[in-house]
Amino acid sequence: MANFYDLKHYIAHYINKGRCLVSEKGKITTFSERVYDRRGNYSEQFNHFIDRLLESGEFFHLYVEGDGYAFSDLIHSRFDLEYCVRCREPIPVPTNGALGPPACYLCPEFEPQQEAQVS
Ligand SMILES: [Zn+2]
Repeated sequence: MANFYDLKHYIAHYINKGRCLVSEKGKITTFSERVYDRRGNYSEQFNHFIDRLLESGEFFHLYVEGDGYAFSDLIHSRFDLEYCVRCREPIPVPTNGALGPPACYLCPEFEPQQEAQVS
């Protein structure tokens, strides 16, 4: 992940979609307030939520529910934030040694009837 702002963008995106954060020990952290304000910026509540996690020291041990990387992994430059070719969600991708399309842990379950591409 290039920087903290990318990491926050990724977290905000998934929390906004209803996912929670999970610690290495399996403790679940939820955020049920608005992530974005009317202008599309992070809400004050969301900024406070992230600040509280940072202050608690828990932050870097957390994962987005369903993803395979803790934030401590993602904050290093070994990862970039890219977009999955299937679900088009932001996903962390290792910067080196990537063979083939990036693994996406966050794709919704594969659905048999794929929507046809309308052009
Ligand atoms: Zn995906």
